[in-house]
Amino acid sequence: MKSLTEHLTFNTKSRREYINITGQVEDLVAKSGIREGLCLVNAMHITASVHINDAENGLIQDFDDFLENLAPHEPISRYRHNRTGEDNGDAHIKRTIMGREVVVAVTGGKLDFGPWEQIYYAEFDGRRTKRVLVKIIGE
Ligand code: ZN
Repeated sequence: MKSLTEHLTFNTKSRREYINITGQVEDLVAKSGIREGLCLVNAMHITASVHINDAENGLIQDFDDFLENLAPHEPISRYRHNRTGEDNGDAHIKRTIMGREVVVAVTGGKLDFGPWEQIYYAEFDGRRTKRVLVKIIGE
């Protein structure tokens, strides 16, 4: 069995951002040389998500509106977690709703997506360096 382990690094300009990382993951699948296997992609921080959905700008704004309605960033005092001196109580909740990781089959050397599936990194507490783990296993 072969494997490849790499990290992608992000440092977003704004607190919340949604970044399509499909191309970067595809490049790593090609680099791995693996034809048949599995590709795991996970956020390594508990205030960011990796998920799969459509690369459609209206939908991305819909997700952001939905999350902000459910767990608004402000008022900061709304969250017990922020009594620790942090201000990211909302970001922990948003990440848990959107998920930690995705696993995509690798078939014939390519990510085996359904129609319109794209891999997104969602940042909910940005403006600092954060990592995503990509691990590809197979043969
Ligand atoms: Zn926190």
